[in-house]
Amino acid sequence: MKIDTTDARDFIDESAIWSTIERTENPDPSLVRETLAKARERKGLTQFDTAVLLQNKDLELDEEIFSTAREVKKGIYGNRLVLFAPLYVTNECMNRCAYCGFKADNSDLDRRTLTDEELSSEVRVLEDLGQKRLLLVYGEHPTLDAKWIAHTMQVVYDTVSEKSGEIRRVNVNCAPLDVDGYRALKDTGIGTYQCFQETYHRKTYEKVHLSGRKTNYLWRLNSLHRAQKAGIDDVAMGALFGLYDYRFDMLGLLQHAEELEKMFGVGPHTISFPRLEPALGSEMSYNPPYPISLHDFKKVVAILRLAVPYTGLILTTRENAEFRSELIKVGVSQISAGSRTYPGAYTDPEYDRPDVQQFCVGDSRSLDEVIRDVVQQGYLPSWCTACYRLGRTGEHFMELAKKGFIQTYCHPNALMTFNEYLNDYASPETREAGRILLENEVAGMADEKRRDLVSERIKRIDSGERDLYF
Ligand code: SAM
Ligand code: SF4
Repeated sequence: MKIDTTDARDFIDESAIWSTIERTENPDPSLVRETLAKARERKGLTQFDTAVLLQNKDLELDEEIFSTAREVKKGIYGNRLVLFAPLYVTNECMNRCAYCGFKADNSDLDRRTLTDEELSSEVRVLEDLGQKRLLLVYGEHPTLDAKWIAHTMQVVYDTVSEKSGEIRRVNVNCAPLDVDGYRALKDTGIGTYQCFQETYHRKTYEKVHLSGRKTNYLWRLNSLHRAQKAGIDDVAMGALFGLYDYRFDMLGLLQHAEELEKMFGVGPHTISFPRLEPALGSEMSYNPPYPISLHDFKKVVAILRLAVPYTGLILTTRENAEFRSELIKVGVSQISAGSRTYPGAYTDPEYDRPDVQQFCVGDSRSLDEVIRDVVQQGYLPSWCTACYRLGRTGEHFMELAKKGFIQTYCHPNALMTFNEYLNDYASPETREAGRILLENEVAGMADEKRRDLVSERIKRIDSGERDLYF
């Protein structure tokens, strides 16, 4: 693959970011309240508005930020929570990212690329646990190219557990590819393509990426443009919090989202906000250059929900169970659960070996335990993949999402996939708690016709039918 940045756009305006940060220093409480009133309209926030909320220092007003985020999230998503699991396919990597355990010069790491058979075995374990949506994760290596990545995606789609069925949506987090490479992923049925910029601050980016292709800031900054050009219209961005000033990276994320909207008519499908976690062989990961407090991190999540209300916000198991519950309340719409972060981990009887992991996991509970916990907190787990399979993606998805479609389609689809989970995978305790939630959810549906339709389909699932959706 030839790295060519002649057409690349440098759309991050660093001086505009700093000037916004300076202009919103210590904002007046009345301005914060005005901004929150605007956020309640669910039309999103400007960079200026976002910076006002980020820089509020009044703790009582911070609580208002959290409650507004809860309100907006509830209004758009209801109590649904989408579930997925990451699957690491290779930890071979040519890059030296100072913060990552997979970096090329980490000689203590046990390197491994899964064979097709090994990959299938991992997929079967995940299918038998009840996962339907996977995120495939890859290090970057010259021989493990786009064609090979597309091949591994196909292996995942082709692996159908006799007991449990199939994976219905494969998302990918891999290093930037060229347009042809992304086309190969599109042709193999990619769901969402994820690529995190890590930090939008160019000097810091150059400082933490020591060698390899990833040193090229512009190549990465335009990765989602190339994916869009190849026809992948669900693209996902993220920043790695802890590398640089979180206010800067938050505004960088918004500039990136605005750029995609301007160029392709649709912003990111999801945003991720990993926080630097300790990783074997990475000094920096133990001492983040810009550590972010739990309070500020919670603000980042809540304000993202207000700034881009219709964008999915993804929370991984990097954070611990208790903190995850708080973040879910203020805006998260998708979570991973039961995650293991190295190739072969799901079939490894000696799981939890530090010499193979990318970073340490903060929430190591099983999928079933997480489901029981979120159900007890009143959330409705969903494994829905209907939009992607019916072509409701990209701009089309966003348009529909804005018209309250989530309540009409996503809620019923969540109920049906949740009922599959309860029938096929849940432990007796989880099933008991889940059944009560399911009954209450159906009973609470305002549209009588829809309610009857859903009840009928739920019964069909109870008698053995699978994969029903609207
Ligand atoms: N190699 C590809 C790349 O760099 O884009 C994709 C896989 S990489 C394993 C996925 C993400 O993990 C990175 O984009 C980075 O944000 C995150 N990551 C790396 N090191 C981390 C650490 N120590 N703690 C938390 N997240 C980390
Ligand atoms: Fe490799 Fe990605 Fe880790 Fe960097 S973040 S060392 S590119 S796996």
